[in-house]
Formats: sequence, C-alpha cells, structure tokens
Amino acid sequence: MKIIWLYFMLLSVIMLSGKEEAVEFRKLNAVEKQVIENKGTEAPFSGKYWEHFEEGSYKCKRCGVPLFRSNDKFKSGCGWPSFDDEIEGAILQISDSDGIRTEIVCAHCNAHLGHVFVGEGFTEKNTRHCVNSISLKFEPSTETSGWQKIIIRIIMNIKVEYLIATDQ
Ligand SMILES: [Zn+2]
Repeated sequence: MKIIWLYFMLLSVIMLSGKEEAVEFRKLNAVEKQVIENKGTEAPFSGKYWEHFEEGSYKCKRCGVPLFRSNDKFKSGCGWPSFDDEIEGAILQISDSDGIRTEIVCAHCNAHLGHVFVGEGFTEKNTRHCVNSISLKFEPSTETSGWQKIIIRIIMNIKVEYLIATDQ
C-alpha cells in the first residue's frame, strides 16, 4: 500500500513539473491589445526592451512561448528591440496589409510582434526583426532551473527507492 502511495506521489510531482510548461493565454490590457491584437506600433525609443541587453529569452506577452534569444539581439538604433534571428519555428512571417512590409506574428498564438526587414546590413545575418517591446516578456536565463528539476527528480527517486527498500 505504501509503495503504491509513493509511486502516486512521484507521478504527481512529474506531472506537476510538466504542467509548468503548459501554455496559457495572458489577459491583455488596453495598450497591449492595441499592439498585439490590433497590430499597432508602439512609439520608437519608448518600449521597455529597445535598449535592454541582459542574458535570457524574450517570450510572447500573450502566450508565453519563447520567441527570441538575447544572443540574437543587436543595437540597430531604430528605437525598437532588434533581433537578427528567431527561435526556430516560433515566428510566422505574413505579408503586411500595407503590401510592402513583412509582418511577424507569434507562430503559437498569432500575436502581432512587428516586422522583419532583410538586406539592411546590420549584422552578418542581414535580417532585422523589429519587434514591439510590449509584445514581449523578457525572462532572464536560468541555466540552473533545468538542472534543479533533474536533481529534484533524482532525490525523489532515491527517497522512494529507500522507502521501498525499508518498507518491510
Ligand atoms: Zn504567442
């Protein structure tokens, strides 16, 4: 009986830690909606991240999926966060309604992010994802968090095995 209960506990812990990765849509305020849903553009040099260069990832404000890495961010001087690359599969490019530019949206929730420009020569990749800060949510890199999870799981396993061994 004790063994079954312990396995149930372990299973719950694994399921709960997996739940952290589940995606939920965040409720947006009116200013966020104007950009993310109505495809507006924040004023240049006004956003939170145009001159932000900490290590980490930039996630979608609405659904939380990681979109850009700080390693790909560069100073373009344009007043909006600029990235010369995206996290693979995170971004969709669509023709802007102006018929000229290429709009970029979150591939998961379709949130408007900004536009992508090529051939400007800013970096070797020759690409500038020009993104509204308000469409993003920065998360500092937490390299230990993955390891912490693994360590917790190992400790839980050892504890369960020990308790099973001493069950008699
Ligand atoms: Zn999204």
